[in-house]
Amino acid sequence: MEKSQQNPEKKVALHTLGCRLNFSETGSIAQGFVDRGYKVVDFGEPADVVFINTCTVTDKADSTCRNLIRKAHGSSPEGKIVVAGCYSQMEPETIANMQGVDLVLGTTEKYKVFEYLNEEEENKIFVDKTHEFYGAATTPSEGHTRAFLKIQDGCNYICSFCIIPFARGRSRAISIADAVSEAKELIDRGFKEIILTGVNIGEYENNSGEKLADLVQQLLDLDGLERLRLSSVEPNTITDELLSVMKSSPKFLDHFHIPLQSGDDDILREMRRKYTVEDYKKIINKIIAAFPDAGIGADVICGFPGESDQQFKNTYNLLKELPITHFHVFPYSKRKGTTAAKLDNHIHHDVKKGRVKTLMMFGDAKLSMFAEDQVGKTSKVLFERRNSDGLWEGYTTNFVRVIAKSDADLKNEIRSVHLTSAQNGRLYGELLH
Ligand code: SF4
Repeated sequence: MEKSQQNPEKKVALHTLGCRLNFSETGSIAQGFVDRGYKVVDFGEPADVVFINTCTVTDKADSTCRNLIRKAHGSSPEGKIVVAGCYSQMEPETIANMQGVDLVLGTTEKYKVFEYLNEEEENKIFVDKTHEFYGAATTPSEGHTRAFLKIQDGCNYICSFCIIPFARGRSRAISIADAVSEAKELIDRGFKEIILTGVNIGEYENNSGEKLADLVQQLLDLDGLERLRLSSVEPNTITDELLSVMKSSPKFLDHFHIPLQSGDDDILREMRRKYTVEDYKKIINKIIAAFPDAGIGADVICGFPGESDQQFKNTYNLLKELPITHFHVFPYSKRKGTTAAKLDNHIHHDVKKGRVKTLMMFGDAKLSMFAEDQVGKTSKVLFERRNSDGLWEGYTTNFVRVIAKSDADLKNEIRSVHLTSAQNGRLYGELLH
């Protein structure tokens, strides 16, 4: 049957909150709608189905989700509103009781949305706790130049502040064979850069029975793949073997994302993180020894319960000492059911806000300094889009945004760029021919 005959003129609007993993999962679900003859329209336009893939990592994410549901009901009062993902898994009743919501699907059930839409269900909540592994990857309909490929889901760590293990379940992973075949498909669709993503991808090794280093090696060997990165990796999971595989190929980019969360050992212990400040320093120094120009991102939480001014200062000083270039700063958010939520020394909202602001300003300054250090060098840039000034924008291998002039169509092209100047954490450059 022709696609258009399956669902004549049906429209779907999708919205994603949260992490890259969620975005890649929405991408696969969007492709499922397209395969069934739906037309994807912008969120906020009237649609037959509105699909919201939620996040619950902070209370702000929860309230944003509730606002999106209200907006969806306003724009598509007759449409079916499906709310799926982490927030649905944790608070299904709250969501189901909101006006206009037709289906609430948990972190596993969201992949079965097509079955639920086809059935006349009495019930509207489907939250399974078995947590199978469902693959996901960026799709061409999203218009991205960098493809996210999901290799792992869930987490076994139970950090005291984190709700994710409750929402996404135990760690599980894709096999190397399946990951390679998905990567080949992405390459065939024209993607030149792949970013491996998951909740705790360093745990790949422990639950697939296969090594992350072997997976990375096999992907680096693929013809047609030009660039490979890992998304966030826990510092304690970066082995010497993994680093040596990364270093063995110019396809592996010198950009890393290593969560820190705090630069104080007592807070790290309270957070139940699996490393000390000293361990973290060692791993960053190893990365810099292997990739001297590396861009390194770090997640930091400000205002964990009991965090004193001095402990915050320890985090600031560590970030100052280490070559961390991209800061991802979050205020601590109390999540019901976590160990940290039960602590009695919570930090006042204004103090958390002040600390976040301090680190964000410092992060901007460090990124600017890093960009200035790149001036005079040459980097291979994957161009993504032409901006409103008619200039092309893309990213260096070490993840600094670059702006360059060209009359040619550079979308999805990798070009050598001589970096000539820097401003506010961005680089300007000239194409080399
Ligand atoms: S490693 Fe810790 S912070 Fe990351 S998902 Fe697992 S429990 Fe959460």
